[in-house]
Amino acid sequence: ADRPLVWIPRPVHEDALARLRPHADVRLGYGTEGVPFDEISDRVTAILLRTERVDGAMLRAAPRLRIVARHGVGVDTVDIGTARELGITVTTTPTANSRSVAEHAMALLLAVRRGIGIAVRDEGDTRAAIRGRELSGATLGLIGFGRIAREVAAIAGQGFGMRVLAHDPMVPAPVIKEAGVEPVDLPVLLSRADNLSLHVPLVETTRNLVGLPELLALPEGAVVVNTSRGGVIDESALLDAVRRGHLAGAGLDVTAVEPLPPDHPLRDEPSVVITPHTGAQTAEALRRMATEAADHIVAALT
Ligand code: NAD
Repeated sequence: ADRPLVWIPRPVHEDALARLRPHADVRLGYGTEGVPFDEISDRVTAILLRTERVDGAMLRAAPRLRIVARHGVGVDTVDIGTARELGITVTTTPTANSRSVAEHAMALLLAVRRGIGIAVRDEGDTRAAIRGRELSGATLGLIGFGRIAREVAAIAGQGFGMRVLAHDPMVPAPVIKEAGVEPVDLPVLLSRADNLSLHVPLVETTRNLVGLPELLALPEGAVVVNTSRGGVIDESALLDAVRRGHLAGAGLDVTAVEPLPPDHPLRDEPSVVITPHTGAQTAEALRRMATEAADHIVAALT
């Protein structure tokens, strides 16, 4: 009865369960043998969480709870204040999906640059209408130079032969230079970026960071890619810049409202490629998020 108990409310990669089982009893909150939280709240020592909500009442109802391990980034679904008050550790897996999101940013950039969205949805003869652009030799501007942007810089610079610029006031210039990337301030970045990719968190200072003036400051024919958060771009300004022909297109994995409504005007723009927040939806990222969260639990229990 003293064996730790881990509760997992939604399916995660089975490798995580394999890592936990030598150290704890694992109870699933789903499936035929699923147990609701109330049934194990007096015994639960750890929760491995995806996007499910863990509120203060749940935390208070679990006297033996030591850790809530989030699979993924962001803890807006957990009552952090109450967790802190009760001495319950809350962890995330911030690097587990960086590579997947970076590869997705490149997928969106390539899709827009090569007219793949247009080619896929058109039934007529689009071949003659498509004039792609190579990435090689073009300039990529990165706003934010954190975990994901650094992966993008490596792929774009070393893999595609792009010139890469980055703006991130919190990252020292030598760190940016060491990655083979040119640190620049935002106006310079905007004036030079044939391709712009956003990698900042959504916070007060980044909401609508890219509005109409910023989009119009980009070179004519630029492409914008957003895999960060929808609120970082002013979407009506983006639509305007695309419709005016100032932008050659945009690739969006995130939008202000998700899922993006079927009748949203951005969906009518052939040069805008939209994916439904699938940047981290790879086998590798899902496995890494689950096993890292499991490792956090094992570390907390032993
Ligand atoms: P990170 O914290 O490693 O890097 C973010 C960087 O942005 C930091 O270096 C910070 O200094 C910089 N920054 C903050 N404000 C800035 C500003 N005003 N101008 C320039 N730089 C600024 O984050 P990350 O792991 O690289 O993630 C970046 C974004 O990607 C986050 O918004 C995250 O939510 C999002 N994300 C999306 C997906 C997806 O599925 N599409 C998955 C994971 C993360």
